[in-house]
Amino acid sequence: MAAVETKKMNLMGLNRKSMEDFLVSIDEKPFRATQIIKWIHQRGVSDISQMTDLSKSLRKKLSEICEINVPEVVYEKTSNDGTKKWVIKVDESDLIEMVLIPENNRSTLCVSSQVGCAVDCSFCATGKQGFSRNLTLDEIIGQVWVAANSFGLPRNPNSRHITNVVMMGMGEPLLNFEPVVDAMNLMVDDNAYGLSKRKVTLSTSGIVPKIDELSKVTDIALTISLHAPNDELRNELVPINKKYSIQELLDAVNRYVESCNDKRVTTIEYILIDKVNDGLDHAAELSQLLRQLPCKINLIPFNPFEGSGYLKPSGNRIKRFQSYLQEQGYVTTIRSTRGDDIMAACGQLVGQVNDRTRRKERSIKNQIIAKAIQ
Ligand code: SAH
Ligand code: SF4
Repeated sequence: MAAVETKKMNLMGLNRKSMEDFLVSIDEKPFRATQIIKWIHQRGVSDISQMTDLSKSLRKKLSEICEINVPEVVYEKTSNDGTKKWVIKVDESDLIEMVLIPENNRSTLCVSSQVGCAVDCSFCATGKQGFSRNLTLDEIIGQVWVAANSFGLPRNPNSRHITNVVMMGMGEPLLNFEPVVDAMNLMVDDNAYGLSKRKVTLSTSGIVPKIDELSKVTDIALTISLHAPNDELRNELVPINKKYSIQELLDAVNRYVESCNDKRVTTIEYILIDKVNDGLDHAAELSQLLRQLPCKINLIPFNPFEGSGYLKPSGNRIKRFQSYLQEQGYVTTIRSTRGDDIMAACGQLVGQVNDRTRRKERSIKNQIIAKAIQ
């Protein structure tokens, strides 16, 4: 009779609770979960035999039935200014990209939550690719694992290199709720990545019921991709707005802020697209609209891509929009040139998302690699 091959348990993909449950299911003590989480996520170890505070027999037992799947990096590059990029293969035809941006004494990692995105914002290359699938917990937290290990092993838990994580890569994180929450919990877990809750940011196009759900399980930082000051225009740019209007969204954000134990200033992201949403009338409407929410505004000059049909506004138009909002008392930043480059890459990720044609697949992969090499 042919041997039945059972799939090994991937420890990278377990949150604390599932790790404890798994240990109990194999007649081990649940507190070992902390030890294993520390080895994988705090120390960056992917080899069970190196987990020296577990008995030899337990290591042997675990090695027989478990594995630690690490992401397959197909390309990585550090640019002159210290920015690091990785291209990770998640399926035969799916790639995701992540970026680490060092700035003064902080380093921000931009992480993906899905392959492609179903929200289909009119200005976003990821959206234009359509939706392929959700990333699993191991694929999301694996991005942080890879970035943290890039600074060399053993890791030093007292001087962590990654200080901030933003869920601003491919995908709408609130449409992949559980794995994203599990990943963020590991990011802020002292036995894992130990980041401050205020430094882990979820960016959303506005999935209202999920914002309420989020407030019940965490109080990490929330950023709203608004991009328009009225429903008519937002329906066009961010189609999910037809389901959840701007007012419903801002009400949900206010509820989220209230549920946090500290005073919060929410970041509002606003992509500036030439002659679409960047006029002074738009700035005035935006200023009026946002009076109801403690917030700061981050302006993102549109990053053009082929076939988008939109243009980036001139420097003067961008400055004029910013100055108006500042005069109205809003802290308003423009994504810096360097961040612009890299973060726009975050918003413009074009991993191949389904099997259209092999030719297209290759061409898109090549584009990603070419972009990463730039
Ligand atoms: N889906 C979530 C998070 C990922 S989008 C969201 O929309 O918030 C990541 C960021 O990239 C968002 O702020 C998005 O508005 C921005 N982005 C998307 N396309 C862009 C483009 N063409 N130019 C500049 N920024 C873009
Ligand atoms: Fe999806 Fe965000 Fe892109 Fe909109 S901007 S299509 S929500 S990834």
